[in-house]
This record gives sequence, structure tokens and C-alpha cells, in this order.
Amino acid sequence: MQVPSTKGHDYFMEIALEEARKAAESSEVPVGAVVVKDGGILSQAGNLRESYNDPFAHAEILAIQRASQWLNSWRLLDCTLYVTLEPCVMCAGAIVQARIPKLVFGASDTKGGGVCSLYKICEDKRLNHRVEVVEGILQKDCSRVLSEFFQERRLEKASAAAEKIETMFNAKNAGNSEKTDRGDL
Ligand SMILES: [Zn+2]
Repeated sequence: MQVPSTKGHDYFMEIALEEARKAAESSEVPVGAVVVKDGGILSQAGNLRESYNDPFAHAEILAIQRASQWLNSWRLLDCTLYVTLEPCVMCAGAIVQARIPKLVFGASDTKGGGVCSLYKICEDKRLNHRVEVVEGILQKDCSRVLSEFFQERRLEKASAAAEKIETMFNAKNAGNSEKTDRGDL
């Protein structure tokens, strides 16, 4: 693949999307994040909440932690965080804590977004740091990866439920035929 000379938002969001797809393969809700500085990637991560049994293991938190370790600093100055889904309240708080100056996200999260949808933590003037926000980058792709994941999960659940009903039905029938057999004796 040819690397574009001037890497734009789409380029880094594609990498975040790759992380989201990898997360989906591990049965994680597919969200991916990338931290970029001076046009280079410092860290990238997918959601690992299930794998780690860790409520904090959102893609953004993992990417921020890895970038901080790489820079040997908790301040991610001059960094941009790319994330496929609007960060939640916790992650929006972490972005402020890490002093990240710029956030770029793909799909909005109307049910839990802490940046635009439910709260505007990154722009709250009462806090001591504000974040420039760019939204809607590769929005359709970022939404699709999530909707496909949840659709598959629903189908899996429906087929598991159908299997359970079938097993119960078969067991009941086996019981009935047993009774019938005994009655015949
Ligand atoms: Zn989060």
C-alpha cells in the first residue's frame, strides 16, 4: 500500500478502524483508537474490556496509556487522538487529563457520548483544558463496523435461543414417549 505523503484524518481513522475490526474478531465491541504526533503513530489499540475483564480497557484509555509510556510523559502535548466512536464520559475525562489538544472521531454515540451527544466534556470551560474536536471522519465505516457486530450478536443470540427451545422440546417429547411407553405396559 502506498503511504500518502500528507497523511490526513482518513488515513489515521482507517488504522483506528483496523483496530476496531480486530476487536470484533475477539468478540469485543469494535472500537479502535490511534494516537498521532508529528504525523507519526505513537500507539494504537482496540477495545479489550471483555478480554481483560476491565471496565477501563476502552480503546482510547489503552492508546493513551501506551502513548504516555512511549513519550515517558503523562502529558500528550501536540498529539491527536483518533477514535472510531465518540468517546464515553470516562474517556473524554482521560483525554482532558492527558492534555490531548485534538480529538478526531468517526461515529457519534447518542447513548453514551461524552464529547458531543450527552456531555461536552472536551469543551467544558469549567475544566482547565480544552480539546479541539473534529467529528464525522469516515463516519459511515465507523458506524457500520458497530452495527454489523451487534447484528451478528443478535443473530447468534437468536440461534442459541432457538437451539435451547429445540433441546427443551426434544427432552419433553422424550419424557412423554417414556410415559406413553410405561402406560402401554
Ligand atoms: Zn470510553
